[in-house]
Amino acid sequence: MSTPTLHKAYDSTLFKKQGEDLIEKLSNHLAQTTSGQSSTMNTWVPPQEEYLFWKTYASQEHSTATFFEDVLKRSIHTHHPKYIGHQIAPTVPVSGLSTMLSALLNNGMAVYEMGQASSAIERVVIEKFTETIGWQQGDGFLTSGGTLANLTALLAARKAKVRTDIWNEGHSSKLAIMVSEEAHYCIDRSARIMGLGEEGIIKVPVNTDYKIRLDLLQDYYDQATSKGLEVFAIIGSAPSTSTGVYDDLEGISAFAKANNLWFHIDGAHGGAAIFSSTYAHLLNGIKDADSVIIDGHKMMGTSSITTAVLFKNAVDSYATFSQKAQYLWEQNDDPDWFNIAKRTFECTKSMMSLRFFSIWNAYGDQFFDDFVTTLYRSASVFAKKIDEDPDFELAFEPESNIVCFRYTRNSTKNPIEQVNKTIRKILLEDGEFYIVSTLLKGEFWLRTTFMNPFTTVKHMERLLNKIKETVPVNVY
Ligand SMILES: *Cc1c(COP(=O)(O)O)cnc(C)c1O
Repeated sequence: MSTPTLHKAYDSTLFKKQGEDLIEKLSNHLAQTTSGQSSTMNTWVPPQEEYLFWKTYASQEHSTATFFEDVLKRSIHTHHPKYIGHQIAPTVPVSGLSTMLSALLNNGMAVYEMGQASSAIERVVIEKFTETIGWQQGDGFLTSGGTLANLTALLAARKAKVRTDIWNEGHSSKLAIMVSEEAHYCIDRSARIMGLGEEGIIKVPVNTDYKIRLDLLQDYYDQATSKGLEVFAIIGSAPSTSTGVYDDLEGISAFAKANNLWFHIDGAHGGAAIFSSTYAHLLNGIKDADSVIIDGHKMMGTSSITTAVLFKNAVDSYATFSQKAQYLWEQNDDPDWFNIAKRTFECTKSMMSLRFFSIWNAYGDQFFDDFVTTLYRSASVFAKKIDEDPDFELAFEPESNIVCFRYTRNSTKNPIEQVNKTIRKILLEDGEFYIVSTLLKGEFWLRTTFMNPFTTVKHMERLLNKIKETVPVNVY
């Protein structure tokens, strides 16, 4: 039996009113941010203070419109051209709208009946990826983020390459994977979740360009096998997160082939460059990978979190989880592509295929080419500016849209590391720009990722000048 509260909660007229108001707000927000008109991109508040704000808020009455407005005001604005921080896309509005559509439909996706359109669209989207890579027998699915995607691919690798049936019998041998020391932390985490332990994660050093050292691969492999480890996979970063530098995928592929290893590419950030007419060459060798993952919410403009897990051979896409769930599907052994939960970690999954398809449907492949190409180019423009400025130092020549640099004018009071840490802190609290930091070979560097197609040379110059203006006052 319904109640007045339940009636109100599902009232379509109220929904229309609130929805129109929200769209109005978001549309103004888009206009203000993408044009760079809004003066701040972030209003920094320390965690405890923000918590107390919302704790108090929860005890008061607020209209839905006010609540939405307050969230908007107190969140970081990824659509602002001065957002040059972590790798998350300013959502393409049509992708955001498709997320709103799916959020209300709430199809569960685990089985076909619970996501008719979105399951079929998912197959079309996956084919777009596999065809662009150039695979004839490829397949895959979408999952919730790069972290989960890497774990799923590595489980498939273990299933395909390891002699014992670990799924049923548990571990009897010591397994290992090989990866560059610059790989994203989630690879390390995946390996530990899989029970490989510290010893099972063979971290290969990088060269001065931050690419995995190919000359060391065979040595590291031989040492591991002589210790009794069974190495089953090697992972290439495309690119690595801190640096945005791509490993030599052709080189890794040759090594994998020679030693019968699974070759996985973590393309969470830059796998999307397969769509770039200018930068696709960075992924030379991708065709020989056994599996690849690509995030939509980084370099493809979708709302988060949306990741493609792709396999060169369709069978590998189905082998990972051989598990019975009689209440979901009748025939356990059929590789029916349309019951997607047979292959994903998720049971209930959001209708994430819409986030890609809505963009393809509206703007075609051209959007993805323009997006990646524009952002990678921005980084090279910024790198040139830094290189030409005696007050700054560039960590390396960027290959993608990630640039690491530091302010190097000698401080009388503080070492360079401290000066740069202070710069990062001042910028965060100031809120005009958002940039982040990283450690490279143990040293502190400022780190920028060009995620916004509306960031211009003027914004770049303003950032560098702002740093120069800020530093003397605060740390000298
Ligand atoms: C961001 C990133 C990940 C993690 O992906 P999420 O979607 O944030 O879970 C993994 N690997 C690389 C190289 C990344 O850049």
